[in-house]
Amino acid sequence: MSEPKEGTVYLVGAGPGDPGLLTLRAARLLAGADTVVYDRLIHPDVLAHARPRARLLFVGKEGGGESVAQEEIHALLISQARLGRAVVRLKGGDPFVFGRGGEEALALEEAGIPYEVVPGVSSGVAAPAAAGIPVTHRGVAGSVTFATAHRTGPAPDWAHLAGAETLVLFMAGSRLEEVTLALIAAGRPATTPAAIVEAGTWEHQRVFEAPLAGIAARARQEAVGSPALLVVGEVVSLRARLPALARDAARGERTGTVSRGGGGT
Ligand code: SAH
Repeated sequence: MSEPKEGTVYLVGAGPGDPGLLTLRAARLLAGADTVVYDRLIHPDVLAHARPRARLLFVGKEGGGESVAQEEIHALLISQARLGRAVVRLKGGDPFVFGRGGEEALALEEAGIPYEVVPGVSSGVAAPAAAGIPVTHRGVAGSVTFATAHRTGPAPDWAHLAGAETLVLFMAGSRLEEVTLALIAAGRPATTPAAIVEAGTWEHQRVFEAPLAGIAARARQEAVGSPALLVVGEVVSLRARLPALARDAARGERTGTVSRGGGGT
């Protein structure tokens, strides 16, 4: 039932990094695919699930900074499917969460190519969890807002984002200063606990915590790179009360270590 079919494209979520967080369905499809088209945020051990004879095509796309134009990716998926291949389009996290998976699905739909979407574990939930931050917590935060700092079109509704109980911001990267200032200007207290989770669930995961007003400076000081998420809200302070083991579980199981990687608070 889950063997990939010829001439079909599978838009598959690869999870946040740790190969242990790949779904069984994703692993099964990878094992049977003729072609695997993947991005930069895919762990090499995830790719190792692909069958040895599969064509692995790297399209080096990460967040907004893309090296292969989205239209070229669409054309590639369509042409590979028309050659009768079973194609796995592997995307970081969940394909429909800021991953442009919806655009790929629409392009396949328009081209009349059979496709299927295979959800993945989004970094928006998994990276905070790996850092010991529950995105909701009874009595602390009853809702969570996922947003992106990188967008085309109208400016974000800062008042709305500033009012979120927990705010998880994707692709904050170089715009961290601007984003935190905008949230504070829109009414979020400067003292609100905030954290940056860099490479959540990867071996080199790092977590930094500071009040909202100081998190951008902290990230700059630590030379935080990509991928990273900004988490804003009282839930961040729960980290201090959750055992270190919990935040390392995602990686510890596979590596056998409980090391905290490259440091952090
Ligand atoms: N579809 C993906 C998100 C793609 S957008 C998902 O559901 O997770 C790419 C952004 O996701 C990055 O800029 C970063 O903000 C975030 N991201 C992806 N993997 C991450 C990880 N392991 N740790 C922290 N942030 C991550």
